[in-house]
Amino acid sequence: MTRLAILGSTGSIGTQALDVVAAHPSLFEVEVLSAHSNDTLLAEQARKFMPNAVIITDESKYASLKNALADLPIKVFVGTDALNDVVKWESVDTVLAAIVGIAGLPSTLSAVQAGKRVALANKETLVVAGDLVMRTAQESGAVIIPVDSEHSAIFQCLVGEDPEKVEKVILTASGGPFLGRKPNYLVNVKASHALQHPNWTMGAKITIDSATLMNKGLEMIEAKWLFGLKNEQIEVVVHPQSIIHSMVQFVDGSLKAQMGLPDMKLPIQYAIAYPQRIDNSYKRVDFRDFQKLTFEQPDYKTFRNLALAKEAMFRGGNIPCVMNAANELVVHSFLQNKISFIEMSDAIEIVMSKVSYIEYPTLEDYNNSDHEARIYAAELVKHSQLSH
Ligand code: NAD
Ligand code: MG
Repeated sequence: MTRLAILGSTGSIGTQALDVVAAHPSLFEVEVLSAHSNDTLLAEQARKFMPNAVIITDESKYASLKNALADLPIKVFVGTDALNDVVKWESVDTVLAAIVGIAGLPSTLSAVQAGKRVALANKETLVVAGDLVMRTAQESGAVIIPVDSEHSAIFQCLVGEDPEKVEKVILTASGGPFLGRKPNYLVNVKASHALQHPNWTMGAKITIDSATLMNKGLEMIEAKWLFGLKNEQIEVVVHPQSIIHSMVQFVDGSLKAQMGLPDMKLPIQYAIAYPQRIDNSYKRVDFRDFQKLTFEQPDYKTFRNLALAKEAMFRGGNIPCVMNAANELVVHSFLQNKISFIEMSDAIEIVMSKVSYIEYPTLEDYNNSDHEARIYAAELVKHSQLSH
């Protein structure tokens, strides 16, 4: 029996994780659930899964959540400190880190410090502070198992292999809803277009990141830290069918690929059940439906966020943190129609050139860089064509 803390249980990953748990009641038990502001769904989930504790980080929702669960023996906590605390509990075996954005960093780091098994969906944590998180895991003995489908694929390809024998990893990208489009088309796209992903249904932030290809850039940096790779060992190929979830090429030229239908429940299940592989009855790949698997080079010139993320990876230090902060802010603004699709890349590029470089940042440096980058980015959003 694995006792889970699911952080971000009301999100796309969180709700799918609870579907996996519900399908395997003899394998998983829910110890903790958390959400930012959706108190109604959190209360509903708590009633169904009967965790020991729930945490809400938006203070204005605390009273209503507490009230909704008053008849049950469930502890109700509020605030981020509570998150950092519960993940250390003796009664928690595995923490599913499924909060979106840098907001997930403190609780993930706390779980890693406590030596927990961490099923990691929150890629921004590794983008911002991958060196710190991986070093801490080495010291504490925490095991990090990726939930992101590409990284789950690479992880699965590496089982039984010597990491020294990896030549490179190839991350596959669907290309998103604007695959093949050029800048003259992208200038006019609205959030409502960008929210329509062809292959995956996900939270709003990652869906926009998939449309700009920032998501793939974040995933390059995520892969670097998770698998201890050099920048030159990480490649991206566009594979619109999303059947191959990523590949590893070894020193003898052999390539391993992990395949499956695009369904996040698979990598979630793999991560929380690891090292077991558990059965399910989800739809299987039928190659009669996929007679052609195709591959093409990403268009770095049109999808500049991918180029910017790659640049951030190579520059290292606090630059991925700065890029991530600027991106979080502009994505939020794009969702509110305050900045255009193309201006998001402009703003990220400017912010990356402004914030001063720190080669070996501490956690405090990361927090400061994040803060500084958001201030610059907010200023640029204010001057956007759309803000007037
Ligand atoms: P989502 O927006 O659907 O859900 C986010 C969850 O985090 C919610 O439960 C929300 O309440 C919580 N949250 C948001 N802001 C918070 C804050 N400030 N403090 C505490 N909690 C907060 O997001 P998602 O699509 O489920 O993505 C979660 C993470 O998983 C992201 O890092 C994303 O990149 C990664 N991921 C998602 C998918 C996917 O298919 N959705 C795939 C791969 C990786
Ligand atoms: Mg992914």
